[in-house]
Amino acid sequence: MTPICERIRQISEHIAAVAQRAGREPGLVRLMAVSKTVPPELVRAAMDCGQTLFGENYLQEAQEKIPRLGHGASWHFIGHLQSNKCRDIAALFDTVESVDRLKPARRLDEAAAALGRGLNILVQVNIGEEPQKAGVMPQETGMLLEAIRSACPHLHCLGLMALPPHFDDPEASRPYFRMLREMGKEYAQRELFSNNQQVELSMGMSGDYEAAIEEGATIVRVGTAIFGARPPKGAER
Ligand SMILES: *Cc1c(COP(=O)(O)O)cnc(C)c1O
Repeated sequence: MTPICERIRQISEHIAAVAQRAGREPGLVRLMAVSKTVPPELVRAAMDCGQTLFGENYLQEAQEKIPRLGHGASWHFIGHLQSNKCRDIAALFDTVESVDRLKPARRLDEAAAALGRGLNILVQVNIGEEPQKAGVMPQETGMLLEAIRSACPHLHCLGLMALPPHFDDPEASRPYFRMLREMGKEYAQRELFSNNQQVELSMGMSGDYEAAIEEGATIVRVGTAIFGARPPKGAER
């Protein structure tokens, strides 16, 4: 077994164990392999050992990788969303997790309409209300969900995504995960998602995914723990 395979297997088992311990259905927590800056050969190695969900942050990088790797996997866009890139993003990805404004949502909707299909999205919430960070502010999230629902018929909004403020202690992320879960619950009651019985919560990364699962994550986004450390920022594209 390759080292990547071994790590995916260990993390998957750990995810299932944490879910079980928290009284949750293990099948409802999916592992996303975050493959930004990871060369295609290593992504292929992950696919070969059964990994089917991947996340990419950069359109240009994804345009080089995804067509080569084929569509045997599900690709989620998790990077900063620029309106002028929405058409290409909609063509390449099956889910966009980083929708945080109406303008790019409209662009994604137009692109999906032109492609003659629907597009899954999550709304990214700036759960720590950090000025420099992407995501809609918590108090504006309900309004954005309502606007998307009425203006973007080709978008299927499946849930919420968040990146809590970075702390060294994973327990420090827990209150933010809990907040996102409560928001999901409230908006499901208001029927703002496509499927209000099963709301997606994309939260938790290599350092804090256990706490995220305990607080209700349905997708954990894990990069470093699978593929190893990335080149420092600036060295990457
Ligand atoms: C890079 C990235 C991740 C993965 O982070 P790791 O700490 O390497 O697991 C998860 N989510 C988003 C949005 C990212 O950009």
